[in-house]
Amino acid sequence: MSERLHPDTLAVRVAAPRSPYGENSEALYLTSGYVQPSAEASARRFAGEEEGYTYGRSGNPTVTSFEQRLAALEGTEACMATASGMAAIMLMCFSLLKAGDHVVYSRSMFGSSLKLIGSEFARFGVESTAVPQTDLAAWKAAVRPHTRLLFAETPTNPLTEVCDIAALADLAHDAGAWLAVDNCFATPALQRPVAFGADIVIHSGTKFLDGQGRVMAGAVCASEALVRDKLLPVQKNAGMVLSPFNAWVVLKGLETLSLRLKAQSAQALALAQWLQAHPAVAQVHYPGLPSHPQHALAMRQMDGCGGAVLAFDVKAANPEQARARAFHVLDRLQVLSLCTNLGDTKTLCAHPASTSHGKLSEAQRQAAGIGQGLIRVAVGLEHLQDIQADLARGLNTLDTL
Ligand SMILES: *Cc1c(COP(=O)(O)O)cnc(C)c1O
Repeated sequence: MSERLHPDTLAVRVAAPRSPYGENSEALYLTSGYVQPSAEASARRFAGEEEGYTYGRSGNPTVTSFEQRLAALEGTEACMATASGMAAIMLMCFSLLKAGDHVVYSRSMFGSSLKLIGSEFARFGVESTAVPQTDLAAWKAAVRPHTRLLFAETPTNPLTEVCDIAALADLAHDAGAWLAVDNCFATPALQRPVAFGADIVIHSGTKFLDGQGRVMAGAVCASEALVRDKLLPVQKNAGMVLSPFNAWVVLKGLETLSLRLKAQSAQALALAQWLQAHPAVAQVHYPGLPSHPQHALAMRQMDGCGGAVLAFDVKAANPEQARARAFHVLDRLQVLSLCTNLGDTKTLCAHPASTSHGKLSEAQRQAAGIGQGLIRVAVGLEHLQDIQADLARGLNTLDTL
C-alpha cells in the first residue's frame, strides 16, 4: 500500500487486516493470550516458523496496526512499539549496544535521554560522548573506532536546535555506525529522517502521535532486518511492550497528525513573531523564525514548517530574577496549562530549568543553554488571541515584581 499512496492516505488507511466482522474503524484487541488452532501450529509459531500471535508480550493486532501505520508514515520497513518514548530509547540501546561500545549523542537532548545513555548505560560499560548539537566538527572528532551509534534529536527540547541529518548520516556510515534520530518534535508529518539517511527513528508517542495528551507510548522505526534480528528478540524478553489500548489511541491519533501539526505549527509561528516583538522577551527560540541560527536547514528538513514548540527567555538581570520572572508569567496563566508535556491540542507551558532539566547539574544545564528565564510553549489549538492574552497577563506585569 505504501508504494502508491500519499502519506495523508496512509495515515488513515494502513492497518492490520480487518476481523471477520468487517469493522470500519480498527478494532481494539484487549487480550493477553491467543487461542491456538492446534498444538502443531502453536509449536510452529513459538519456533518462529509460522506467523501468528501467541502471547501479548510478543505481539497484538492493535499494536501491529499502529506499528504498520507509523512505519508507513516514516518510510521505514518496520516499526516496534514500546510502552513509552524512553522505553523506545532503552530498547534501541539494549538491542544495539554492548560493553565497550561507544555512543556519540547531542548534549542538548531530552533530559532523560542524557541520563539514560550518559549514566545508566555507563554502568554496563557503554561509553559515550555528548557533543554540541549543531557542531558537525565536534560530532566528527568524538567518533572512535568502536563507535556504534550516533544519536540526535532535531529539533531539540526545549531550545529547538536543528542538526543536519544528512551530514550526521554520512558521518555515522563512514564510521560503520548507525544514526538514530528522535523525531518527537517534528513527527513524520513534517520530517522523515530516513529520507535524509538516518537508520533508526525514535518516537515518544505520548506527544504529537497521540496528540491529545491521553496515553504514554513510544516506537522505534527501522529496517526489517534491524527490527527482526535486533529489536524483537530483546523486546520479547525484556517486555517494554505497548498496551493494546494505548496503541489504539495513538493509532487513531495518527489519522489527524498531519492536520494538527500544520495547524499548530502555523499558530506557533504567529506566537513566536508576537513574542519576538514583546518588550519583556529577550529571545525566542523557534526554527520557523528567520533569526533562528539553523532556519534555512530547518525549512529544508521540516517541509517548510517550524513545528509546534517554541521557547523564549524573559528579560532579566541575573538568574534569580530570571527564575522569579518566568515563575510570575507561568503563575498568571488562566487558560493555558502549566504542564510538562507537549504535543497536546491544549497549549502547555513549562519551566525546563526546574522540571525536564531540573535533575541536571547547573554546569550541565548551562552547557545545554537552559537558563532560569526560559519558558517552553507547546502550542495547541486554542485561538491565537487567547494564547497571546494569557501570556500577556504575566509578561505585561513583570514590573510589579
Ligand atoms: C517526551 C520525550 C521523550 C520521552 O518520551 P516518554 O513517552 O515521555 O517516555 C523522548 N524524547 C523527546 C524529545 C521527548 O520530548
